[in-house]
Amino acid sequence: MCNEKSAFKMKSKVYFKTFGCRTNLYDSQAMIGALKDYEVTLDETQADLIVLNSCTVTNGADTHVRSYISQIEKKSNAKLFLTGCGAHTKGESLLKEGRIHGVFGQSEKLKIDTLLSKEKPFYDPGDLNYIDEAIVDDFIGKSRAFIKIQEGCDFRCSYCIIPFVRGDARSINENKILEQITRLALNGFGEFILSGTNVGSYGKNTNTSIAKLMKKISQIRGVRRIRLGSIEPIQITDEFKEVLDESWLEKHLHIALQHTSPTMLKLMNRRNIYNQDRELFEFLSDKGFAIGTDFITGHPGENEVIWDEAIKNIQQLPLTHLHAFTYSKRDNTPSSIMRPEINGKLAKTRLHEIQNIVDEKNYNFRKNFNLPLEVLIENKIDQNLYQGFDQHFNRIIIQSNEDLVGNWVNISNYEIQKGNNYAQL
Ligand code: SF4
Repeated sequence: MCNEKSAFKMKSKVYFKTFGCRTNLYDSQAMIGALKDYEVTLDETQADLIVLNSCTVTNGADTHVRSYISQIEKKSNAKLFLTGCGAHTKGESLLKEGRIHGVFGQSEKLKIDTLLSKEKPFYDPGDLNYIDEAIVDDFIGKSRAFIKIQEGCDFRCSYCIIPFVRGDARSINENKILEQITRLALNGFGEFILSGTNVGSYGKNTNTSIAKLMKKISQIRGVRRIRLGSIEPIQITDEFKEVLDESWLEKHLHIALQHTSPTMLKLMNRRNIYNQDRELFEFLSDKGFAIGTDFITGHPGENEVIWDEAIKNIQQLPLTHLHAFTYSKRDNTPSSIMRPEINGKLAKTRLHEIQNIVDEKNYNFRKNFNLPLEVLIENKIDQNLYQGFDQHFNRIIIQSNEDLVGNWVNISNYEIQKGNNYAQL
């Protein structure tokens, strides 16, 4: 018989610290969903245990993880656990240094209760070929749901460590994805962001495709908008082009180019070719799409000639959004031994140069668009101020006396300024 005292025994509190990409955000949510013997806290200072879901995309990302651990060591006695990509690169050394209690690979995440209860320090890197089966029903504090549809990458871009820590591309079972979205739609989510390491490779080995998956998702009751985390230019196939006019597809695509100089694309071992990228972007722009891209400045070998060519090409592309990074060396990648290296300051200057170009293009895009905005309100940013994103993934700041969080609103009357759109409701 259970006595009253044990029935009301306080559960230890766990804080999840998530670094890096959406895949990690998803994995943290899956761990939270699987947690039974512990309580989740959103307040780091209250935590008895901290799970650090780490990123290792650059040497800098590893440094962030280390400095976070140092910070915690100074102010708390919480037991630390490390998972995510950093578990594979830095896990063993951090464990040996006695700075963390346990290391586990993301394939082990659903065993979270057992892992957190282990008395002795442990190292369990898990299985790199693991395919996710976790179903996430809710995303705390988010109006949009991130759905992980695949894991890993078959590309071998010369600067990237990801395939070595996330493994080759493999897809999550279609029925699992559809079941998960059905549940989330029932819980009120209307926008779904399909994410993974290399989203466009979905279905490659299972005889299906990202386009087929999106069509099936769109038929689920309650699904209003589907967005792709990112896609590679060569993954926009004829089959994909057939869904471009569907109303459920967000009128914004994030297509990863990484560079616009053909010479640099070769050095980076990328699969995209600038002339084809340009044709594709123009085709999508003519269809009304806002287009974002990733771009790395300062990769080894980016001399003045290459940079001039890249800038000239960026000017020609109908871009509206940019996710630019300065190159950051990752040990054991082909780029890490390429020379000459580019000075970090110069890489930053170049980043600002392309950012300014794309900001201007975004402003012009918004000025030329004369139709109502379909906005999903994401969060409250201040007293009576809300922020949301429209169908082109442009931010809008809205003043309202009503609580708008999670609502869809159509807005025809708004002010276009550099940076953002503004409206009053
Ligand atoms: S596509 Fe290239 S940059 Fe992206 S995860 Fe794969 S190897 Fe890394």
